[in-house]
Amino acid sequence: MSSVIPIRAETTGCTDVTPLVERGQREVFCGLTGIIWLHRKIQDAFFLVVGSRTCAHLIQSAAGVMIFAEPRFGTAIIDERDLAGLADVHDELDRVVSQLLARRPDIRLLFLVGSCPSEVIKLDLSRAAERQNQIHHPAVRVLNYSGSGIETTFTQGEDACLAAMVPGLPAASATAPALMVVGTLADVVEDQLRSLLERMGLQVNFFPPRNSQAMPAVGPNTRFLLAQPFLADTARALQSRGAQHLPAPFPLGVEGTTAWLQAAASAFGVAPEVFENATAAPRQRAEKALAVQRQVLQGQRIFFFPDSQLEIPLARFVHRELGMDLVEVGTPYLHRQHMAPELAWLPQGTRISEGQDVDRQLERCLADAPDLVVCGLGLANPLEAEGITTKWAIELVFTPIQGYEQAADLAGLFSRPLKRRMKLAA
Ligand code: SF4
Repeated sequence: MSSVIPIRAETTGCTDVTPLVERGQREVFCGLTGIIWLHRKIQDAFFLVVGSRTCAHLIQSAAGVMIFAEPRFGTAIIDERDLAGLADVHDELDRVVSQLLARRPDIRLLFLVGSCPSEVIKLDLSRAAERQNQIHHPAVRVLNYSGSGIETTFTQGEDACLAAMVPGLPAASATAPALMVVGTLADVVEDQLRSLLERMGLQVNFFPPRNSQAMPAVGPNTRFLLAQPFLADTARALQSRGAQHLPAPFPLGVEGTTAWLQAAASAFGVAPEVFENATAAPRQRAEKALAVQRQVLQGQRIFFFPDSQLEIPLARFVHRELGMDLVEVGTPYLHRQHMAPELAWLPQGTRISEGQDVDRQLERCLADAPDLVVCGLGLANPLEAEGITTKWAIELVFTPIQGYEQAADLAGLFSRPLKRRMKLAA
């Protein structure tokens, strides 16, 4: 079935782009950061970081203090005795896990999360998880993945976590194709997207689920849409179970959401009028709300540092729907296959950089003097001190931004710092 929504004519855009590849000093959070949104999503899971006090500080300060609920993450700290070989780290870990599970019977899925320290001492967490499973399964399932910060970026923590779950997903018995949406979304966004797909007559499973007892089945009849652009390993793991990826732009902004929904509609033979009826009203509402934001953002020059891996879809959105000019679009990794529909929608000649060499990129940024810079927390203050307006990249991961109803909120994340700067200058 062909596209039914008159999205602007496709071009090859940046499909054949040769990015500026940089391999220098990096300024990013590590994969442990993903625990912040993953523990909110899977409500009977616990994330036990096996790491240092630094790791414990990172997740505690990033997650804030939980006053009303017991946290569902913690750190088993590797101390000097472990490092000196005076204690058996595996025995210590077994003891900590047993204590935790005895105290928290609500935990049904436990992740042992590796860190830089556990990797440096070559602690084999897959063996630890296997051993724990023999003790605690079926009451609790124990999995492991790495959130280590060496050569990674912070959204890879989610990818590693989801990929670790894939081998344990039940095998699909259905003979008819089934739709799966992959990537952590805020519950409110998930409900909206589910409702839109159901209005087209499509049943959908979301992965990860809100409860570990409701893991979606997977098999050769599974067709999956990625809701997040940083899930390369998870996609590969699903494909190894026979699932088929539906290529699509990501559901950011009106165009992205429409094309993303269209990919599902086309794969499942939804009639054009059914698609139109399901999407017309929220689409029009979102277009109207975006028009207000465009008045502030049109013609503003934006520069993306590589941080969240959301940069390319965001650049496509702010350029095509809000009229912003792209000075540079940095991404930690460029997955050409998953990004192909997005690259095709970027204007030809966009400067795309892959990887990071923070000093060189700062030099380019200062020379270009953009109106707005999207960057990591560590770079925001120095750039603000230079008179450049910034937006923290991590805020775009923590905030619900996907789908029609969130399109204007997403635009607001870019317009707010500019408005603040204008007020201060007035
Ligand atoms: S995993 Fe590594 S980078 Fe992350 S907080 Fe721990 S020591 Fe730091």
